[in-house]
Amino acid sequence: MKHGVHYPHLFQPLDLGFTTLPNRVLMGSMHTGLEDRLWHVPKLAAYFAERAKAGVGLMVTGGYAPSRRGQLAPFSSTMTSRLTALTHRRLTCEVHEAGGRICLQLLHAGRYGHHPFIVSASKLRSPINRFTPRALGRRGIAREIGAFIRAAELARYAGYDGVEVMGSEGYFINQFLCPRTNQRSDEWGGTLTNRMRLPLAIVEGIRRAAGDDFIIIYRLSLLDLVSGGQTWDEIVTLAKAVEKAGATLINSGIGWHEARIPTIASAVPRAAFAGFTARLKNEVAVPVIATNRINDPEVAEALLARGTADMVSMARPLLADPNWLAKAAAGRRAEINTCIACNQACLDHVFENRRASCLVNPRACHETEIRILPAARRRCIAIAGGGPAGLACALTLAERGHRVVLFETAARLGGQFNLARRIPGKEEYGETVRYYETRLAALGVETRLGWQGGAAELAAGGFDEIVIATGVVPRRPAIPGIDRPEVLSYLDVLRNRRPVGERVAIVGAGGIGIDMAMFLAAGDEVPQSIEAWQREWGIDPDYAAAGGLARPEPPRAARQIHLLYRSFGKPGTGLGRTTVWAHRMSLKQRGVQIYPGIRYRHIDDAGLHVEQYRDAADRAPRAFTLGVDHIVVCAGQEPNRALHEALLASGQRPHLIGGAKNARELDAKNAIREGTLLAMEL
Ligand code: NAP
Ligand code: SF4
Repeated sequence: MKHGVHYPHLFQPLDLGFTTLPNRVLMGSMHTGLEDRLWHVPKLAAYFAERAKAGVGLMVTGGYAPSRRGQLAPFSSTMTSRLTALTHRRLTCEVHEAGGRICLQLLHAGRYGHHPFIVSASKLRSPINRFTPRALGRRGIAREIGAFIRAAELARYAGYDGVEVMGSEGYFINQFLCPRTNQRSDEWGGTLTNRMRLPLAIVEGIRRAAGDDFIIIYRLSLLDLVSGGQTWDEIVTLAKAVEKAGATLINSGIGWHEARIPTIASAVPRAAFAGFTARLKNEVAVPVIATNRINDPEVAEALLARGTADMVSMARPLLADPNWLAKAAAGRRAEINTCIACNQACLDHVFENRRASCLVNPRACHETEIRILPAARRRCIAIAGGGPAGLACALTLAERGHRVVLFETAARLGGQFNLARRIPGKEEYGETVRYYETRLAALGVETRLGWQGGAAELAAGGFDEIVIATGVVPRRPAIPGIDRPEVLSYLDVLRNRRPVGERVAIVGAGGIGIDMAMFLAAGDEVPQSIEAWQREWGIDPDYAAAGGLARPEPPRAARQIHLLYRSFGKPGTGLGRTTVWAHRMSLKQRGVQIYPGIRYRHIDDAGLHVEQYRDAADRAPRAFTLGVDHIVVCAGQEPNRALHEALLASGQRPHLIGGAKNARELDAKNAIREGTLLAMEL
């Protein structure tokens, strides 16, 4: 099929004057953790080159600080020396050889840096940092501007095609732009002209120093989403000035890191912020880039066709599938491994100082280590269990050339992902199921759905290897009365669609307990519209007030929900840092009653009888009864190993992966990784 026939706007070249981009996709900046050590440059080079080979028009690295004061953390990435720049030449060469272009992101953390030497416009500590910045003097400001310009020159020396100046997300430049963080009374504060002097000096300086044939992307904060942010008029004035100062492209920045509104989580509807980019596009001539929650070629194409933006930026979707663009070009959309916006292996890892990867693609950022090579000898392999672990194993085995037969007791592949996709805001999990179904079919994997056979059938099947990925069964705590009909498991509700009454208690507040609360609060399964989602979180599409904020209008919960757990502290302690706060806010907004420190006593006609302890030393717990229609148990799971044990008993030596191996640390990230790694060995 001819390149670009499927998505004509997506594959339309973009002429920047001195260079032409082959299509409208920017691989947006994302810190991977590989930026921080120079000896990881070869790994970064492989990561970017793989995506360049698949046709990504322009890419941006993770953030590099132009000065030590601007570092995100001690020893984190900088572009401050010729040695660093020289080392980066390997990366830029590999990208260019693969036919791509790449810009270095210049990110000065300002008051978001986690070290004692941080600087900002004013001495105001961020609510998400324990370090207080030093307010820069005039000479200090000149020094930081000089550092940006020098870093851009070094980027050019390193072979980069340009830089992205990070002017959003609440970092250093954004801190100068907003009255929230800039309380200066000199020529760098007060009026808008003064507040935007810093970004303009940086862009002008880079343009002068790096020349006319150097891409300058300016990441402009379209929505600060904090009080004391910019007004829309200020943003338009800044954009026009940045354009005049020499920016080649304007990228959209959405929300400060300290904003209490999710901007990239899976519950954020696709392209939820593109409307703001469209408004800006009407004001400037320079091409503008839409970003956040664009993960699908249809969505990207529609935005470009409507004239919302000139380019779309995607970071996580290209982590999830390096061949996203090539598959879109070939009209193989159904084979795209879609980013489900979970953050579990990418941003959550980065916040824990671990190397990023991807829940649905464990090879991401590990391209030199996890290599899927053709099998030396084609073998016949049976896999029992079509959840994430079994699916990942089956796909990798088939990609390596093995013959695979996949046995699944349910009527559909997907396992726990088929439960997750029913949760409001988690509809994306269905995309992963679609991806596996499509790819397995394309590779000729034989799938036996509704399988009721057992160990004897597998043992007699003549397979060279047997892999057990039978997952988990819900834990049933030993609470007197647990067998009563009003007690349901999460499987009863999500898989068997058992009706649930108006008053409900949920036992367990882990990931599934919280998901269950959101499911029961929603009352229906229609995905939220962009407008409804903006109303819920208080985002004003008309931008009447500074920062784009409005009064949040959370939806009314469909039921009275009580969420109980035995431990102390907040619910969802095992969940990732980048999303757990939003889950907790959603529960609060929906009036879900939270009960930590619970001991379950019994269940009878009156309801669920419990005692609540204030802390571990509490000797006088409060006893009460929750009169509810249903009790939904979300108390974790146990491994489902019956088939494994039967096979062992019959003398087989099956492999065990996923939740069936270790239910305690079960999550989809580990399951998919384990399935992939085993398949590389067989
Ligand atoms: P989980 O996170 O381990 O939570 C289990 C819950 O049950 C906890 O609240 C635990 O809290 C309670 N519990 C454990 N044993 C109990 C017992 N004997 N009696 C009563 N309560 C008990 O497990 P999960 O919620 O089933 O989730 C499974 C996995 O999927 C986890 O790894 C989870 O992180 C992952 N997941 C992630 C997401 C996400 O959005 N990232 C969503 C869903 C699931 P107490 O001990 O305090 O009572
Ligand atoms: Fe997307 Fe989740 Fe992968 Fe991150 S870990 S790239 S959010 S699918």
